[in-house]
Amino acid sequence: MNPNLDLVIFDCDGVLVDSEVISCRAHAEILSRHGYPITSEQVFHRFLGRSARQANLEVEAELGRALPDDFHLQLRNELYRTFEADLEAIPHIHSALDAITQPVCVASSGSHQRMRISLGRTRLYDRFAPNIFSASQVSNGKPAPDLFLFAAGQMNVVPERCVVIEDSVPGVTGGRAAGMTVLGFHGGSHCQPGYAEMLRSAGAIATFDDMRQLPGLIEKIGFEVTPNQAVY
Ligand SMILES: [Mg+2]
Repeated sequence: MNPNLDLVIFDCDGVLVDSEVISCRAHAEILSRHGYPITSEQVFHRFLGRSARQANLEVEAELGRALPDDFHLQLRNELYRTFEADLEAIPHIHSALDAITQPVCVASSGSHQRMRISLGRTRLYDRFAPNIFSASQVSNGKPAPDLFLFAAGQMNVVPERCVVIEDSVPGVTGGRAAGMTVLGFHGGSHCQPGYAEMLRSAGAIATFDDMRQLPGLIEKIGFEVTPNQAVY
């Protein structure tokens, strides 16, 4: 067991569950329906890894009007419908969790209800509960460090002894702002060429695209894994 680490903090979407393509499609569909034409690719580049609350504020500022009162409900219903139908766990995440010896928790921009559905459907919920933390529990979502610091505090671990597993630039930025080591995962179906470089530019100490690599990578932190090292 790596003596430099006491906690592994997992992002949820794109790291535990392969949800990003599905959610960007649902988000684009509902925004376009409400007079804000946008593609799933644009949703991906602008809003991935950020809270829905912040995304809505930006859209409303551009529209010059508020989104309907039930916008959040409509988006949520569309998302949960597609999650129940199509969502899958990231390949090999279960065996990676079996092999990791440190305590683990989840820190996600998504709501607790969303995680109950996504992690529940993929049989991951019981592996983490009750150590599942949401941006709804802090003032500022990613890329602010608040959620990571909150999660570490709840787990009684100091930030410098935490490693964060993230798949988005706001997430990597938030983890680094919290003073934590960040590993960038680019094995989700939304990840395109150049994605690993983007995560390293944001501050990921190393990147990987197969969850079977994660337990070994965690053991190397503070030893062989040094800044800007790529692990393919
Ligand atoms: Mg993510």
